[in-house]
Amino acid sequence: MRIENLRPSGDSTRARVSATVIWEESSREPQEYYFETLDEFADGIGANPHAFLVPAAVAAVRHGERRVAIDAAICAELKAGLTDAIRLLQFWQIGKPRPAVTIEARGISTPKPQTIPRAAFCFTGGIDSLTVLRRNRMDFPPHHAGYLRDGVLVFGLEVERLDAFEHVADVLRRCATAAGISMVPVYTNIQDLDKDWTFWQNEFEAAVLASVGHALHTRIASLSIGSSFDYTTLHPHGSHPLLDPNYGSSDLRVRHDGVWLTRLQKTALLAEWPLALQALHVCNRYETYRPGLINCGRCEKCLRTLTALLVIGAIDDAVTFAHRDVTPELIAAHASLDDISAPFWDELLPPLRQQGRDDLADAVSHALARYRNEVGWAGALRRLDRVHLHGSLRSMKRTLAGAAHRLLPTIMSVVSMLPLIGEEAGKEEVSHLNACSVLSLPRTAL
Ligand SMILES: [Zn+2]
Repeated sequence: MRIENLRPSGDSTRARVSATVIWEESSREPQEYYFETLDEFADGIGANPHAFLVPAAVAAVRHGERRVAIDAAICAELKAGLTDAIRLLQFWQIGKPRPAVTIEARGISTPKPQTIPRAAFCFTGGIDSLTVLRRNRMDFPPHHAGYLRDGVLVFGLEVERLDAFEHVADVLRRCATAAGISMVPVYTNIQDLDKDWTFWQNEFEAAVLASVGHALHTRIASLSIGSSFDYTTLHPHGSHPLLDPNYGSSDLRVRHDGVWLTRLQKTALLAEWPLALQALHVCNRYETYRPGLINCGRCEKCLRTLTALLVIGAIDDAVTFAHRDVTPELIAAHASLDDISAPFWDELLPPLRQQGRDDLADAVSHALARYRNEVGWAGALRRLDRVHLHGSLRSMKRTLAGAAHRLLPTIMSVVSMLPLIGEEAGKEEVSHLNACSVLSLPRTAL
């Protein structure tokens, strides 16, 4: 893969930086990728090679490229970190070996002098994102370099329709003004490098978010990414505390923030801050967005968040939701769970029971049972094993299945030879040799 033709451009309303990516091993066509921001933030955006290198390198690994050659000097720290990140992603892809990728550049760049460091964060309006802002306002004094001054809102990732994006931007801009930050919108097609959703979740997310931070490198010195998971639910993922900081450079720190808080704890933290609930944005069904209403209230993510707010006693304050009711029927109909969402629902069960909401708790339990394949008598056995035997039965089953799989060819070979043994006196020695050979035993063993 080659990254060439890095250049600034733009018009009177937007400032743009772009580069062309040319694939060498993959048959994909060359494409121009860009980052744009509004003219009022034009001074903050620049043709930083890191903005293109980071996501392109992660995509290059997936598509079998042998090298990523960029027509610019790059930061030594970023090159080392990116190499680490790629190795970590390869390590996580157990059973799916991928070729090594080398990073080639025109040399090592000199870090830019820091003038007034500005701390920024990924400003989506989600629970994780708003928690970054909330904790920052609680813990950092205004004169501190880590005091958040910018919230970066990206168009071209989860929200792909401009009118829907503007509805989100309108809501978040009010929150930003009240919280004393600038909301910096960035428009990009960088996710077109690979739009596969599984790839985004498992490998790509932080690389893309960091790329936006690098594009703003003349304005910001750090970018915080809200953690999706806490220490009890952490697993290999596209944004992870072991991964995200590797995408930083001498000019830009990339932070993974909030991993010690569970999603319910974060929600409780935000419920004490009216500003957050007035800006809350968790829904990906952007076709349903309306002015001021940026959550459908019916999808799995909305229902999960509303249930958490119900547990906390703040559901009536969820003013950005088109619907604010949660019923067992809605959970049964819309809470189709997966590895990402299940832990968040799991956390809601105890407080629902404690508050006497057994109707909702039963619906959540059933949704979790469906996800874990624990429905019916066989499912009950699987649940018994998971809860009370810590998965011992499942481990034993795997061990026995693995042993049987390994031994089966040997057993079949021996069985097939049995008729030969003893058929004729002259052949006895041959059969003996064959049996020893098949079983990988010394000749004297049989
Ligand atoms: Zn929704």
